[in-house]
Amino acid sequence: MTVYLVGAGPGDADLLTVRAARLLARADVVVHDRLISREVLDLAAPHAELIDVGKRPGSSDSQDDINELLVMLGRRHECVVRLKGGDPFVFGRGGEEALALSAHGVAVEVVAGITSAFAGPLLAGVPVTHRGLSHGVTVVTGSAVPGATVDFRRLANADLTLVVLMGVRRRGVIARELIEGGLERSTPVAVVERASSAQQRVVRCTLEELGARRVESPAVLVIGAVAALDLGRVDDLVSMYALTS
Ligand code: SAH
Repeated sequence: MTVYLVGAGPGDADLLTVRAARLLARADVVVHDRLISREVLDLAAPHAELIDVGKRPGSSDSQDDINELLVMLGRRHECVVRLKGGDPFVFGRGGEEALALSAHGVAVEVVAGITSAFAGPLLAGVPVTHRGLSHGVTVVTGSAVPGATVDFRRLANADLTLVVLMGVRRRGVIARELIEGGLERSTPVAVVERASSAQQRVVRCTLEELGARRVESPAVLVIGAVAALDLGRVDDLVSMYALTS
């Protein structure tokens, strides 16, 4: 009688944790998000009931419904897997679900997953930190929520890499605020769409160009000097040496 809040990674089933795969194989019910790939769901036990609770970001009503559903299922079944894209505690509202379950006396266990915030850049050949280029990385939401919208002017820092999730729609505003905050217009940007899937696509541009580029969700925006790198490419490895040694 446990609900497992499980991170499913960015999409490719090979990027699941072993623990996630084991739990899926013995799940009675799998409650999953919109972004979970077919190949991950195929790892669920044949008898498992799959429930898609895919919802639009920011709709709190449906989050309450999901919490209620999880409580109900947790009381009824031995093994409920609540499968969430990436890591359950990175913009996954996993914390809210864990609290709701505990408040109702349902046992809950959280299983870490590979977040798209880090796997996305990596799969595009971008190291989020790199000695000499970036001393750290800030992960932030680009979505606008009344009273809780990030002011990107305050995040403009050329020494750090900025990774923006849920930032596709507002990418033009984000770029403008970062430039107002002091980042160079020429700051490199890499946008990684559908990271780890067969449809993965990487768009590279400058901060100034970001707003006008065609980009589709889900995607992570990677902003900063490291975004110019593609460590899958020999030419870039050579220019990287020139930059950092
Ligand atoms: N918990 C998730 C993030 C949920 S928020 C995680 O840790 O990855 C949803 C946002 O994550 C999307 O808007 C997008 O910015 C990003 N995202 C999730 N999966 C992605 C993927 N495969 N490729 C690119 N971005 C992805």
